[in-house]
Amino acid sequence: MDISKLYQDMQNNILHIFSNIIFSKGYCCTIIIDTQHKKTHSVPNSFTDFVNETENCSLEDIYQKFPHNKEIVDEYFDFITQNSIGVFLTKLEIENFAKMSHDYFSPYHFENAIVDVRNYSSNTEKIISKIDELNVGYIQVRFLEHCAQADLKKCLSLINHLSFEFCSFVLPYNPSLLSVGEDGVSTEEFANYPKLDSITIYNHPDDKIEHDYLKTIIYTSLKDIRKTGCGAVQKEYFSVDTKHILQSIHFNTCLYKKIYVSESGIIKNCPYSMLEYGNFLDLSNSEVLKITKNKKFTHLWHIKKDEIEVCKDCEFRLVCTDCRCFIKAPQNIHSQPSKCFYNPYIARWKGEEGYVSVEDCGSYSKESGFIPNHKKIAEINKQLWES
Ligand code: SF4
Ligand code: SF4
Repeated sequence: MDISKLYQDMQNNILHIFSNIIFSKGYCCTIIIDTQHKKTHSVPNSFTDFVNETENCSLEDIYQKFPHNKEIVDEYFDFITQNSIGVFLTKLEIENFAKMSHDYFSPYHFENAIVDVRNYSSNTEKIISKIDELNVGYIQVRFLEHCAQADLKKCLSLINHLSFEFCSFVLPYNPSLLSVGEDGVSTEEFANYPKLDSITIYNHPDDKIEHDYLKTIIYTSLKDIRKTGCGAVQKEYFSVDTKHILQSIHFNTCLYKKIYVSESGIIKNCPYSMLEYGNFLDLSNSEVLKITKNKKFTHLWHIKKDEIEVCKDCEFRLVCTDCRCFIKAPQNIHSQPSKCFYNPYIARWKGEEGYVSVEDCGSYSKESGFIPNHKKIAEINKQLWES
């Protein structure tokens, strides 16, 4: 084998970044989202700039571009290949890789529905069954007061027989509800409900997340799920699911094609939005579907993270969700979620050493919203990263 020719060929190979890899560059750093392996890598922005500059270049050209940084270039290439971010191939080989489309298509009239239940009754079943007829992918049922085991089982069985793809439940804590016993619904039993995705149990003594029988069980000490349970931004809630990432690129990840039906049948965008669109129990299916033509109702569907103050500078914007009800400036629909305690200008969460709030990194004005103070941010970062 002619080693020098092989080496020459390798030098002519081109850097190809796999199309399942999405770079989300923030103010301070970037997260690389690997949609296939469902994981993220945090890298400095200089790495992202390097990839942008060298993608589709040959190894030889790249070394020529960075003649004094061969060691760093090799380190970057090791990182790229070891983490399946990209590979060096010939032009011909690269043509065999299909491009992943970043389009987002939803087959549903409503992607998700939230239904509140105070007392489980035939009306509850009527609402759930009627929602199912509207071509809805996912339903969340929230019990606002006591939830009897029998009602939970009835509701789970009903949904199991309908055409929803997934469902989740939000329930108040009741020590006997999830115990294995005559009437208890054991977590083992959840395995019988393939559509069940997660259960959130509020007013629980602990805060913890468990994964059992392919279901996620979230225990939270929040006392009243209606007042406090929505819109919280935490790393644990980030999603690297491809559907979520693509939806983030085009639409609002919480409100896109969402419908909420209150315990008395009132229709809204979500439990905490102000505008009401009639009573679900009084409207025919076609009347409910007409709401999707109402611009007031659909406006929120189209507000994406790239349009949100502060979030548009955050590396997590594609994996995070976007609440439009709990926002920092209620008069400005594009303001940052108020339950976020991450500062993307210094890459620090509240509670971490050196944390400074977003508000301390800029100023708000009625006309232009949040304006970052770049000079001040540079000083804070200098202190943070150089100390
Ligand atoms: S927009 Fe906010 S309050 Fe409404 S459902 Fe989403 S997270 Fe909850
Ligand atoms: S700033 Fe907060 S809410 Fe906005 S994308 Fe980042 S983590 Fe999410």
